[in-house]
Amino acid sequence: MRHTAYLTHADCHQHAMFDGHPEAPARLGAIEDRLIASGLLDLLRYHEAPLVTREQLARVHSAAHLDRLTELAPEGDALAEVDPDTWMNAATLDAAQRAAGAVVHAVDLVLAGEADNAFCNVRPPGHHAEYGQAMGFCFYNNIAVGAAHALAVHGLERVAIADFDVHHGNGTEVIFADTSQVLVCSTYQHPFYPYTAPLERETLIHCPLPAGTGGMGFRAAVEEHWLPAIDAFAPELILVSAGFDAHLEDDMGGMQLVESDYAWVTSELVELAGRHAGGRLVSALEGGYALSALGRSAAVHVQAMLGI
Ligand SMILES: [Zn+2]
Repeated sequence: MRHTAYLTHADCHQHAMFDGHPEAPARLGAIEDRLIASGLLDLLRYHEAPLVTREQLARVHSAAHLDRLTELAPEGDALAEVDPDTWMNAATLDAAQRAAGAVVHAVDLVLAGEADNAFCNVRPPGHHAEYGQAMGFCFYNNIAVGAAHALAVHGLERVAIADFDVHHGNGTEVIFADTSQVLVCSTYQHPFYPYTAPLERETLIHCPLPAGTGGMGFRAAVEEHWLPAIDAFAPELILVSAGFDAHLEDDMGGMQLVESDYAWVTSELVELAGRHAGGRLVSALEGGYALSALGRSAAVHVQAMLGI
């Protein structure tokens, strides 16, 4: 069994948008409840997520973006609109700083050898957040902040990011489009939100998939495109944008994956991390809105990271 760290923070529950918004605090509890019920939580090493620093955020976000969010942050019970899908309450910035801080700390843990891999049960998610723009429920690009930290502070030269959220991780792609040090592999439903045109780069491996693709088509795309690209890149660290909204029961998308698909792709990534990166892998929650399916999917993801 591997040593898997588990990072979260109570502040991540305090960020809430309007009633009925799918990116809701209950998502974190759905995952943690399932980890408890399955006995997996007892096998994980708990770490409280620290606050990210401005210096860490500024590696992937413009000063204007960071300042704008600070200025927009409301007080009391008010909500501030960032885009029609994305709202801030008084607790949003703390939650977002914990979410990004979790990934940074998880990177530190695996690079120090204090854990083999790590799962960050955090929100708000991050992969739509661009260099200068919050969007699609995302404020800071958590996984990008972690990748940039690994490059800048730990001196890594090759970090791979794998993103199986049903939506295209436009933010991560734009942030790393012009560096050869980060390989970004993504599968996503197409055409679908955010409707951004994918950039053409050797280090950006896109797998747009039509609605209704299902597990066989998903696995074929990963086997044909992701796995050889990651193998050839030989990353020193693998990061995972773990969105579970491609699940059959999640009506946010229509990709029709099931738990065994998430277990499979996680095992493939864990194996590649073992082959190239000393096992170092950090996963952070992105989407996933059908609460029962989210909990079950995250649990098999964590189980595959533990290797049991
Ligand atoms: Zn998503």
